[in-house]
Amino acid sequence: MKYVSTRGAAPEKNFSEALLTGLADDGGLYVPDEWPSIKCSGTGDYLETAFEVMSLFTAESLDQEIFKKIIDEAYASFDLKEVVSLIELDEQIFLMELFHGPTLAFKDVALQLVGGLFDYELNRRGEHLTIVGATSGDTGSAAIEACKDRQNLDIVILHPSDRVSEVQRRQMTTVDSFNVHNVAIEGTFDDCQDLVKAMFNDLEYRNKLKLGAVNSINWARVMAQIVYYVVASERLGSTDQPVIFSVPTGNFGNVFAGHAARNCGLNIPKLLVASNENDILTQFFNFAEMKIDEVIPTLSPSMDIQISSNLERLIFELFERDGKKVESLLEKFRSDRKIRVDSDIEAKFSSTWAGYSFDDEEVIKCISSEAERSGIILDPHSAVGVLAARLHRNKKIDSGIPIVSLATAHPAKFPKAVERALGKCPPLPERLADLHERPEFFTRLPNDLETVKNHVISCSRIDEK
Ligand SMILES: *Cc1c(COP(=O)(O)O)cnc(C)c1O
Repeated sequence: MKYVSTRGAAPEKNFSEALLTGLADDGGLYVPDEWPSIKCSGTGDYLETAFEVMSLFTAESLDQEIFKKIIDEAYASFDLKEVVSLIELDEQIFLMELFHGPTLAFKDVALQLVGGLFDYELNRRGEHLTIVGATSGDTGSAAIEACKDRQNLDIVILHPSDRVSEVQRRQMTTVDSFNVHNVAIEGTFDDCQDLVKAMFNDLEYRNKLKLGAVNSINWARVMAQIVYYVVASERLGSTDQPVIFSVPTGNFGNVFAGHAARNCGLNIPKLLVASNENDILTQFFNFAEMKIDEVIPTLSPSMDIQISSNLERLIFELFERDGKKVESLLEKFRSDRKIRVDSDIEAKFSSTWAGYSFDDEEVIKCISSEAERSGIILDPHSAVGVLAARLHRNKKIDSGIPIVSLATAHPAKFPKAVERALGKCPPLPERLADLHERPEFFTRLPNDLETVKNHVISCSRIDEK
């Protein structure tokens, strides 16, 4: 299998090359040149399904016996043996908990695997990477946890200063390792993401430092997330029966993985894109237009995003894989700060996607009403997903089709919101109990590209190689 860029002007890559490259040279994102068809044994076993699904994307460039070991090691770090859990709420609405990994958010599912893949591939090649990533809160800690203490990597993570929760920040800044570097940027998540993109788009700089990506611009992350959509269908009975997924969305990586599963043959009649007050995707899926606004800080900070990188992968498909058209549309979006797509394009997504958005008050009410109904305590991101699932169910369309709502974080990661709703919050797991006593390590920098670039140079051990 080959990977092509969504902008159509970068060289094709195999899986391992796409893994190490992250962003394509033309500024695009890598996607498979065609979608394989998923054939699974249907047992719902996570490790077995993970291997069956991801083999389709990796077989030509990765020794499959070794790959199997990398998968097993990645998920051995999870608190649940079955890796993810599926619980029925009521009315054919199910909750799939994806947050039982080391940093308590669903990002671990992909990043624990990506860390192992980086390590194997770099050792094999005798190479070194400088990982640079932006985080709205959870990517940072999951990436740091996956990359810390590895000799062939340095990792620099930019987070928006004062816009991530205290638990999120401490999960990053309290990691004391020779190869981990945290930077607090005076700006928003979109500013952090733009800084990272600008570093990647400076090809000379990027090649000199051998920059690698852990954001969901990296195809390997999306690939790893396809697995749990398949596992959910298997555990509900079969991969042939229809299942709707409701996905709390920020950068569009998670829900795009659902779409990828659908492209590979999984029966997903509809994907619900659940957003907080940053509702740019809701506008897109309901009205085929997007207008960039200021980022509104909410109780679900990992979704406080206006420009969702991975939407580019969907746009690439909507425009029949014409990279030139993708590029001109996205340039127009950046310069005009708004776009509208034509009705022939809109017709391609209007019946298979739905966008919903909710404000903080609704999120608080949802956390308390779900706790009352079932005793299950949702974090504010997962609550946005459940709100979308319930609203969709109440519309009486798609009756009888199960809806799986993805739970993306452990409630103890967002204690302020949960306490506001319930007056109490479950504790952090034992292994994180002293998080608030641990010393923090980070550098504060202005939202300035040159300053940040120089800082990354000072963190990288690339010259020592
Ligand atoms: C990252 C994140 C999201 C958003 O996922 P995307 O793949 O960026 O759309 C939702 N919830 C939590 C808890 C997250 O960490």
